[in-house]
Amino acid sequence: MNETTLEMSSTEMRRLGHAVVESIIRHFETLPEQRVVNWSGRDEMERILGGPAPEEGMGLDELLGEFEERVAPHMSHVDHPRMFGFIPSAGTFVGAMGDALAAGYNIYAGTWIEGAAAQQLELTVVDWFRRWLGMPETAGGTLVSGGSVANLTGLILAREERLGDLREDGVIYTSELAHSSVDRAARILGFRPDQVRKVPTDDRYRLDVAALADAVAEDAPRRRPFCVVANAGDTTTGSVDPLTQIADLCTDRGLWMHVDAAYGGFAVLDPRGRALLAGIERADSVTLDPHKWLYTPYEAGCILVRDFQRLYDAFHILPAYLVDVAGGPRNVNMCDHGLTLSRGCRALKIWMAIKHFGLARYRAVIGRTMDLARYAQELLEANPKIEVVSPAVLSVVSFRYIPSPGSGDEAIERVNQEIRQRVWDSGKAMITSSRVRDRYVLRLAVVNHNARRSDVEETVRLIEELGAAVSADRS
Ligand SMILES: *Cc1c(COP(=O)(O)O)cnc(C)c1O
Repeated sequence: MNETTLEMSSTEMRRLGHAVVESIIRHFETLPEQRVVNWSGRDEMERILGGPAPEEGMGLDELLGEFEERVAPHMSHVDHPRMFGFIPSAGTFVGAMGDALAAGYNIYAGTWIEGAAAQQLELTVVDWFRRWLGMPETAGGTLVSGGSVANLTGLILAREERLGDLREDGVIYTSELAHSSVDRAARILGFRPDQVRKVPTDDRYRLDVAALADAVAEDAPRRRPFCVVANAGDTTTGSVDPLTQIADLCTDRGLWMHVDAAYGGFAVLDPRGRALLAGIERADSVTLDPHKWLYTPYEAGCILVRDFQRLYDAFHILPAYLVDVAGGPRNVNMCDHGLTLSRGCRALKIWMAIKHFGLARYRAVIGRTMDLARYAQELLEANPKIEVVSPAVLSVVSFRYIPSPGSGDEAIERVNQEIRQRVWDSGKAMITSSRVRDRYVLRLAVVNHNARRSDVEETVRLIEELGAAVSADRS
C-alpha cells in the first residue's frame, strides 16, 4: 500500500470487519454471565491505556486484542439484564449494525443535498414518534445526542417564543424531581438559579398543579413566567406529572409547555403508559431518548416540537459558504433545525431496528418491562424489612431497607448506602440511589429488553440477603 494514504486492502477490511462483528456477537452472548459493574481507578487506566500516540502502526489482530483485553473489561454494562440502576440502556444488535452502516458509509445528515435519504429517514422516524404521541401533523423535530441537548433545545424555543429579550425576568417552572439537565440548560441560557422555580409534588410525586398555579400567579406581577417543564417519567420515581392539567394552565397563562419524556415517553406504546401520558400531545415541545426505552445504541435523543417551523426560526442561519446546499420548506436541512452542522445519521439505527422487529414487538417488550417493575415491587413489598417509597409507576420502583422498626433516617441511610455498595461489589446486579424528599432511597429501574423475571428475582434476593448481612454487621 502507498504509505501516504490511509487505504486498506479488501482482504484487510474483511478480516477486521468479520472479527469486529464476532466480538460484538460474543458481547451479546456472554453478557448475562459477565459482571455488571466493572471499574478501575485513573492510575490503573492510565497504565493500561495512557501514553502518547504511536509513531508506527500495529496489526489489526493485535489491535482488536487490545480492545478486548484492555478496553472492554474496564466498563460496566448498562445493557446487562441485571442493570437496574439509573435509566438502563440496552441497544439491539440490529441497531448496532445500523450504526456500523451509518459510520461505514460516513453518512452526512446535515443537509438535503448531501444526504436526502438521511434527512428523509430522520423525518420519517421522528414522524413515527409524533404519531405515537398523538401530536398534530405540524409537529416535527430532530434527533440529537440525548435528553440533555433535547431539553436545552426545548428551553431555547421557549425563550425565543415566549420571552424574547426579557431574559432577566423570565421564570421556568418545574417539579422538585426535574432532571438536572433542565437546571444545566437554564444555566447555559444565562438564567440564574432563582429563575428555575421548583414546585413541590403531591403524594404520588407528581407536580402539584395548584402549587404551580399559585407560583405563577405570585410571580406574574413582577417577573415573567414563560415556561413549564413537566416530567413524563422522572428519573428518581418514574412519576408522570398531570400533563393535561399542566397543558390547561399553560394555555391559560400563555406559557410554553415542555415535557421531559426522555425516559418515559416511549411508554405510550403500552396502553397503561398511554393513559399515564395523556396530555403529552398538547406539549409545545417534548424530549425523548430513543437510547433508553427504545433500545437504540448510544447516542440518540429527540426534540419533538408542536410546530416544526419553530426550530427553523430559532436556529436557521445561512452563511455564504452554505448557499450551495441551502434547504427549502420541503427539502429540509436538519442543520437549520438545531445546534450542529455536521451530524451523523442517528435515524438509520432506529429505522432499521423498528423495521426489523416491527412495532408490535416493541409494544410487547415495553409492556413486559413495566410488568417486571411491578413484579419487583411485589417482591420488595413481601419483605417486611423493606419499605417501598414510590411504587412502580412506569418502570421504576424506589425503596429502602429498614433494619429495625425504630431505625432513624440516618441509620437507614447508612445501611442502604452499604447495601448499594455491596450490590455493586458482588458484580451480580446494579441498582443506584437517589433522594425522595430528603430520604435516601434505592431505586430499581427495569428498562432493558433482555431482563427476565429471574433477573428481577435474583436481584431482589441479593438486596434482601445483603440487607440482612449489613444489618447484622452493624448491630
Ligand atoms: C436521561 C434523562 C435526561 C438526560 O438525557 P441524556 O440522554 O442522558 O442526555 C433528561 N431527563 C430525564 C428524565 C432523563 O431520564
